[in-house]
Amino acid sequence: MSLLVVGSVAFDALESPYGKVERALGGAATYFAVAASFFTPVNLVAIVGDDFTAEDEKIFRGRHIDTEGLERATGKTFFWAGRYSQNLNERVTLATELNVFADFKPRLPEKYRASQFVFLANIAPELQRDVLHQVKKRPKIAALDTMNYWIERSNAELRETLKHVDILMINDSETRELSSEHNLLRAARHIFKMGPSTLVVKRGEYGAMLVDKRGVFCVPAFPLEEPHDPTGAGDSFAGGFMGYLAGNGEKSDAALRRAMVFGSVLGSFAVEQFGLDRLRRLKRSEIHARARHFSKLTQFKL
Ligand code: AMP
Repeated sequence: MSLLVVGSVAFDALESPYGKVERALGGAATYFAVAASFFTPVNLVAIVGDDFTAEDEKIFRGRHIDTEGLERATGKTFFWAGRYSQNLNERVTLATELNVFADFKPRLPEKYRASQFVFLANIAPELQRDVLHQVKKRPKIAALDTMNYWIERSNAELRETLKHVDILMINDSETRELSSEHNLLRAARHIFKMGPSTLVVKRGEYGAMLVDKRGVFCVPAFPLEEPHDPTGAGDSFAGGFMGYLAGNGEKSDAALRRAMVFGSVLGSFAVEQFGLDRLRRLKRSEIHARARHFSKLTQFKL
């Protein structure tokens, strides 16, 4: 089943202890779409400026990514700059320039409106809601990601949008900020009152945790000796997670658990190299090999 995503397509300036890039193709929707397209066709809704070249757009070609919903406008593409600490666990945002996203009014192509799986990747909550409202029927799963930038600047809009989603997928510090609870289980209970019935907390090198009314499920992060650039790990996790669910058309507990593993697999590949470099040359066989490795990693007898 096809999967609809709205979110940022961006140019990023990245600095990590492993190097520096001035203009890497990035954006939450870009990482998400590339990761999810290994599992299912993806319909992309976003906007880019006239500095976005045919060469940049090649990232979407030769994959199952439909770009009819990718609007082009006069002006500059969304720009984000970030710097990582020595151990890659902390990052500071140095710049966020919305540029063409500031006046974006998304119009969903007719063929996108029947989407049953929807991912509202990181972008202004009012844009996320606008896209969700253009989908004809209530989707099987609507999931949302956001970040501190929107929690702080657009809190009321974000809370309004959250009323309409099933799964909230954010990192641990954002979970704490949004819920004003330090403990993640208490935070989950708080977030369930806002609308979502499932919370997926992305915890970087500590893996990810899913909480719903049935209980808690945890996956580790794949142990890597030399991660280079954590940018897009969360979006790639979301792409693997939602891509797997949409590809199989289900949302049972067993499917959600497998989706957590595929999310972790895609996130682990994303951090191996700068920007989208690793996902660009990733093969389906490598994804499945790493998923099998995950199964070994977590197996034990009692
Ligand atoms: P992640 O590392 O998964 O949090 O995602 C990083 C990506 O999100 C980068 O490629 C950025 O271009 C994009 N990004 C950063 N800040 C924002 C924001 N405020 N809204 C939307 N996208 C953003």
